[in-house]
Amino acid sequence: MASITFKEICKVYDKDVVAVKDFNLEIQDKEFMVLVGPSGCGKTTTLRMVAGLEEITSGELYIDDILVNDLLPKERDIAMVFQNYALYPHMTVYDNMAFGLKIRKMEKSEINEKVLNAAKILDIEELLQRKPRALSGGQRQRVAIGRAIVRSPKVFLMDEPLSNLDAKLRNEMRTEIIKLHKRLQTTFIYVTHDQTEAMTLGDRVVIMKDGLVQQIASPQEIYDKPANEFVATFIGTPQMNLFDAELIMEDDEYKISLNGKRMDMPNKYKETLRYKSIKPQNIRLGIRPENIIITEKTPESFEINIDVSELMGHEMLIHSKLYNNPIIIKASSRLNIEVDDKINISFVTDELHLFEKETGKNLL
Ligand code: ADP
Ligand code: MG
Repeated sequence: MASITFKEICKVYDKDVVAVKDFNLEIQDKEFMVLVGPSGCGKTTTLRMVAGLEEITSGELYIDDILVNDLLPKERDIAMVFQNYALYPHMTVYDNMAFGLKIRKMEKSEINEKVLNAAKILDIEELLQRKPRALSGGQRQRVAIGRAIVRSPKVFLMDEPLSNLDAKLRNEMRTEIIKLHKRLQTTFIYVTHDQTEAMTLGDRVVIMKDGLVQQIASPQEIYDKPANEFVATFIGTPQMNLFDAELIMEDDEYKISLNGKRMDMPNKYKETLRYKSIKPQNIRLGIRPENIIITEKTPESFEINIDVSELMGHEMLIHSKLYNNPIIIKASSRLNIEVDDKINISFVTDELHLFEKETGKNLL
């Protein structure tokens, strides 16, 4: 059990590659924390600093209120599951799992008990005498996790553990990892570039870009209140539609104008804009594909032409243009429409997102 605190952590490689900058985060005991972001944003570096595999350039890292910057990896009571599994090819599954305990000089009988117990949890009891090359990708993944479990660490670190598995297996293992976390009651830090994994696994999610934290919040909050345009488009598939628009004041009310057409302000913004005395300005207006409705023609609706429709089971993605901006709409596949049909759409007012044009920051 452990809480982990990052205070102003920075990592600079080779004097000028800033991999992680001013990283601040408090992870609670037993929390499932996910770090997510595009390749190269500093996720692995952050994880390796927690494991003690990478020197911290500046800042302080605490595990349970103990400053660990200068502690060796083996003094930290942390286990890490690597993306490539890093199993010893010449050892059996049993020996791979037992190895870390043997070098800690644990009693043979105790090692045996721990290995068998982990094998049972992961359903790999039948594989214990095999070598890694005789295992499937999913089985190797389980062994790698097993090797971490046997050590009963205070903290589990996982670096893209599912990225080498096919889609079906990845979904299954995702569920297994949720169960594992429940069962072990341990702090997890899980790194992925996959937003779906992040949003389904995390108690909280840290979204990173270019070494900088963009937002730290629960998956629901990230979806509902993305901190900026980057987060808004990184989370959700297909991604949020964005348009140049204007924040205007009419009859002492804030309104949105999209190419001259007026839209009401979502309730959540009304108070905040007034409270912060936000001035009328050019903005970026965001709406997710699932929050666009196909309607009858009304004064508020927009007419669009269907360019492409993609069937995906019970859903359909409609690709079109609105004032020369590409737009994607998620609709029911039962809808009877064809390419080049004209349809009318409207936006669900309370699901609109407003971003500052200059900075991309959410106006909330
Ligand atoms: P991620 O895991 O999010 O893909 P990394 O933490 O691996 O990102 O890398 C962050 C940045 O640091 C990248 O620009 C990467 O090229 C750089 N980097 C990572 N490891 C090293 C290293 N050992 N030496 C120099 N630069 C590195
Ligand atoms: Mg990485």
